[in-house]
Amino acid sequence: MPELPEVETTRRHLAPYLVGARIVGITVARPRMLRRQEQPTDFARRLLDHKIEQLDRHGKYLLARLEDDIVWVTHLGMSGRVEVVRAIAEHRAHSQVEVALDSGYEFRLIDPRTFGFVAAYTRDELERSSLSRLGPDALTDLPRSSRLALLLEGRTAPIKALLLDQAIVAGLGNIYADEALYRARVSPLRPGGGLTFQEVVRLRRGIVTTLDAAIRHGGTSLDDLAYLLPDGRTGEFTARLAVYGREGERCRRCGSEISRQMLRQRSTHWCPQCQA
Ligand SMILES: [Zn+2]
Repeated sequence: MPELPEVETTRRHLAPYLVGARIVGITVARPRMLRRQEQPTDFARRLLDHKIEQLDRHGKYLLARLEDDIVWVTHLGMSGRVEVVRAIAEHRAHSQVEVALDSGYEFRLIDPRTFGFVAAYTRDELERSSLSRLGPDALTDLPRSSRLALLLEGRTAPIKALLLDQAIVAGLGNIYADEALYRARVSPLRPGGGLTFQEVVRLRRGIVTTLDAAIRHGGTSLDDLAYLLPDGRTGEFTARLAVYGREGERCRRCGSEISRQMLRQRSTHWCPQCQA
């Protein structure tokens, strides 16, 4: 599933094409993609003929800010990716949402499993939507260690599960939560409230360095190649994953075997030797 680094990589590639462009055409192949839009016809009506002023991101959501205070939200779901191509380019299978720009380029959301969605919200609708419950963005707004320690205080849930909770910090998913905990040398199974302040400091640093490296390498393209950059390249962070997908392989830090275990229905990878 695309996480913060994949969505941020997508955003950086799209911004030069989208910002300043006017929307001149909308095609939605599967009505399901509009399930978060109260009135599905609002999507095309609110986007058409509107100029895109800014392209932001909060957690795993891409937010295009349009004229008239309209916010076009895109979520990539489990297997979505975006490409930006000339309008005349061949249409790929599973191209569920296509937004044509006056520049001759098209935004296309490719999503085989259709767990992703798009919506065009007014300011009020955005405030009433699930996006309003997101915690601070893990890249641009990560709380200081003292604040993070307060957020974890008294929590008995495993720290891995707390990192996946988008209401605490938005943007981390299964891959980068495991990677950040490895860098912090903290076991994913530890109760969040049991971390020492030093460990919280290391965890914060682990999140920062993991996200920074992942974005620098264009994110992670797993074997299914569900996620690709908008220009079709694969994300190169895959080769740099320290624990995710490496069960049974050697820890690059201590040489022990990487473990994998299901934790609340999510596969969790860590080094039992150097993550205490
Ligand atoms: Zn190790």
